[in-house]
Amino acid sequence: MRIVQKYGGTSVASVERIQATAQIIKAELDSGNEVAVVVSAMSGETNRLLQLVNSMSDNPPMREVDALVATGEQVTAALLAIELNKLGIIAYSFSGAQAGFKTEGNHSKARIKDVQSDHLIKHMERGEVPVVTGFQGVDEQGNTTTLGRGGSDTSAVALAIAVKADSCDIYTDVDGIYTTDPRIEPNARKMDSISYEEMLEFASLGAKVLQTRSVELGMRYNMPIHLRSSFDLVEGTWVTREDSNMERAEISGVAYNRDEAKVTIKGIPDQPGIAAAVFGPVAEADINVDVIVQNVSEDGQTDLTFTVPRNDYDATITLLQRLCEKMKAREVLGDNTVAKVSIIGVGMRSHTGVAKKMFDVLAQENINIQMITTSEIKVTVVLEEKYVELAVRSLHEAFGLNHT
Ligand code: ADP
Ligand code: ASP
Ligand code: MG
Repeated sequence: MRIVQKYGGTSVASVERIQATAQIIKAELDSGNEVAVVVSAMSGETNRLLQLVNSMSDNPPMREVDALVATGEQVTAALLAIELNKLGIIAYSFSGAQAGFKTEGNHSKARIKDVQSDHLIKHMERGEVPVVTGFQGVDEQGNTTTLGRGGSDTSAVALAIAVKADSCDIYTDVDGIYTTDPRIEPNARKMDSISYEEMLEFASLGAKVLQTRSVELGMRYNMPIHLRSSFDLVEGTWVTREDSNMERAEISGVAYNRDEAKVTIKGIPDQPGIAAAVFGPVAEADINVDVIVQNVSEDGQTDLTFTVPRNDYDATITLLQRLCEKMKAREVLGDNTVAKVSIIGVGMRSHTGVAKKMFDVLAQENINIQMITTSEIKVTVVLEEKYVELAVRSLHEAFGLNHT
């Protein structure tokens, strides 16, 4: 078998952890498999580098920010290759550019266009181990780019697809994907498997255990992803195609995201084209709009409320204030202490009353719902951030997900 393994920050956080990681790789080779490895920076390192930038400049050139943060992964790739060689394994570190990760030039959130990694296959066939820096690539001009926070997951799945691996094993600090973040609900249950579709909702609704784009890629190319722990080598959770024979519970899990802010533009003259007039400039500013609610009032005016990532809150408010004047709207309001809680599950297709049950549970806890959005397999509510943990725990219990 050919396997791509990815090690997150905690698996390469120190010399000891890098040594332990090298042993896992050695065991994989010893059992007759071909291995390529993708590494993250040591845990905390990417944040440290970004803080250095922030302490120097409010508006740094993003090309240089990428040049800086990409160094975190170069350190761990080289150290791991050194350790593997010490164990008698031929291993080479490769930067994103050397490994053939071609991206668009959009610094700090570049998308992978192509992975030209045939040269790595040759190493793997000889029993050698390419150790590739996650999170980074190179644009057409040769500039270093990065793929967005948590991007090493995406590097790993993309590499697995490029070298035609049998699976992509993601090693982290939890031993699987749980029904909710085990850090806030100790009663969360580990899943044996989860469909790409559900995992995509989990990830995009805030479960940071896998970067959303890694799941998208896995789904598109049907690459099995095995999420497991490097601290405890038990079987983890497989993210794969849906198994249609399975009996489904009402919901599979609960996700939350604190990285949210809510903005409202009030009293816009209600006429065709206003949504386009508002969301056009927002999209041009590269701000990701999520939940949207439009209220039509009686006097020919309308209010538009939507959520954006918290980081983009100030920029969105400034932009809307400008639009407000131009469109002769009444005012702009905002709140950057909201969060999103979601219930997810393909079981919703066959069970009715799931959304109502969610609203009842939140009402019982006296939690006010500010916005609601649904899809076939999820219900999301926006609420005050201080209620996140209470909401997650009550929903987890009410839907029978607690570990017994
Ligand atoms: P790495 O540095 O290895 O990429 P991350 O911190 O990105 O690790 O992802 C692992 C973390 O994801 C876990 O420590 C856990 O707190 C968090 N997490 C959030 N939701 C879930 C979930 N549903 N199941 C498992 N872990 C989750
Ligand atoms: N080091 C990067 C980050 O912290 C990428 C990753 O770990 O996946 O976001
Ligand atoms: Mg991660």
